[in-house]
Amino acid sequence: MISNQSILVIDDDADIGGFIKDVALPLSLNCIATTEASTFLELLGPHTDLVILDLLMPHIDGIELLRVLGEQKCKSGVVLMSGVDKRVIETAEQLAAKLGLSIVGRLIKPFGKRDLEGVLNSYQGPANVTATESQRIVIQDEDLRKAVTEQSFNLHFQPQINIRTRKVVSIEGLVRWLHPEYGLVYPDRFIQRTEELGLIEELTWIVLRKGVACWHNFKDLDGNSQNLSINISSESLRDLRFPDKLEALLGRFGMPPEKLVLEVKESGLLDDLTNTLDVLARLRLKRFQLSVDDVGIGYSMLQQLRRIPATELKIDKSLVGQMLKNHDDRIVVEKTIEIGHLLGMRIVAEGVESQDQLDFLSEHGCDIAQGYFVYKPYPLAILLSWLSQYRPLATTTHLTARSEVPQR
Ligand code: C2E
Ligand code: CA
Ligand code: CA
Repeated sequence: MISNQSILVIDDDADIGGFIKDVALPLSLNCIATTEASTFLELLGPHTDLVILDLLMPHIDGIELLRVLGEQKCKSGVVLMSGVDKRVIETAEQLAAKLGLSIVGRLIKPFGKRDLEGVLNSYQGPANVTATESQRIVIQDEDLRKAVTEQSFNLHFQPQINIRTRKVVSIEGLVRWLHPEYGLVYPDRFIQRTEELGLIEELTWIVLRKGVACWHNFKDLDGNSQNLSINISSESLRDLRFPDKLEALLGRFGMPPEKLVLEVKESGLLDDLTNTLDVLARLRLKRFQLSVDDVGIGYSMLQQLRRIPATELKIDKSLVGQMLKNHDDRIVVEKTIEIGHLLGMRIVAEGVESQDQLDFLSEHGCDIAQGYFVYKPYPLAILLSWLSQYRPLATTTHLTARSEVPQR
C-alpha cells in the first residue's frame, strides 16, 4: 500500500484491531479499527482503500457484512481473517467474489507482524474505477431538490497546516451528497446545478450547521481551537441578514466568529463586489474571517483584490500543481504571496501534493498548506483519529500522522 491510504478493520477482539493499527502506522497507513458493525458501516466509504474483516464474531455475522459490502458495491480491497478452518475462509472468499468484491489477501489467526506486513505491502490499492464510475453519474434535478429537503449531505474535513510550525491551524469542511444510487457524490458534480436551481443558500446553511456543530472537536494537542473553513457561494453575500443569522448560529454552539473562515471564490466575489461589499464589511465587523478562494485561475488582476476586505488568499490547486514545472505559474504564485502579504492577508496554498512543493512554498513565505501531502479530506471520525496522532515536527519530513506505537 502507499502512504496515507486508509484501512478499516472490524474484529470483535479490540486487541487485534490495535495490533493491526500498530503495524500500519509506521508504514504511514491510516488505520481505524472497530468492534461494532454499525461503526464499521458508518466509516466505510470510497476513501476506504482496504477492509480487514474478521469472519467469526460472536455478535456480528462476518458473512452478512460481506453481503452488505457487495450491496454497497464496495470498491475497497478486502482481507478476510479467521481462526477457523482454512476451508471456511475459502468458501467465504468464493462468496465474496460472487458478490463482486475484490479479495486481496487472507490472514489466518494467529498471525504475526510479518504476515500482516506481507499482506499490506503486496496490496496495490483499489482498481481506479472512480473516473469511469463517475461518468455514469447523471444528476437529476428532482433528486437534488429532494436531497436538499432531506439534507442528505455530509462533510469531509481536510486539515491546513502552518508551514513554519507545522501545526494544524484550520480544518476545511467539504460537502458530499449521500446519493441513494451512486453513494458519495462529490461537489464538482452538483454545486453548479444547485446554484442554477436556486438551492445553494439552503445547501450552504445545511453545511454551515453541520460544520459548526463539529467545530468543538478541532483542537490541537495543547487544547488550542483550530479554525473551521467553509465554502460559501457569493449568493449568500447578497442576503443582508446573512451576518446576523451566522452570528446566531455560532452563538448556539459557543463558537467565536473569528474561528470561522468563509471561503468565497474569487470570481464570485469580484463579479458582484458593489452588491456584496455591504455584507462583506459587516461580516468583518463581526470578526468572521474571509478567504478569497481559487485565486489565480484565470481571473483577476491581483490589484483588484485590495478592494475585498479579506483576511486570507487561497491559491488554487491548479497553480500549485504546475508551479514547479511552469515558469509563468511559478511567477503568479510568487507574486500572489508577495502582494497578498502587502495587503495584510495570509496566504494558503491548496492542492499541495509533494515535499518539493511544500519546500518551494516555505521558501517563498507562504503561510499555510493544504493538500493530499498533508492529509486528504475524510469523514470526521477519521480526521479526528489523525488529529489525535499528528505530531507537528518542524522538519520537512514526516507529515503523516504518527503515534508512539502503543504497547499491546
Ligand atoms: P475547493 O474549495 O477549491 O476545495 C479544494 C478541492 O480540492 C476539494 O475537492 C479537495 O478535496 C481537493 N483537494 C484537496 N487537496 C488536494 C490535493 O492535494 N490534490 C488535489 N488534486 N485535490 C485536492 P472537492 O471536495 O471535490 O470540492 C470541490 C469544490 O467544490 C471545492 O473546491 C469547492 O469549490 C466546492 N465545494 C465543496 N464543498 C462546498 C460547499 O459546502 N459549498 C459550496 N458552495 N461549494 C463547495
Ligand atoms: Ca475552498
Ligand atoms: Ca480550488
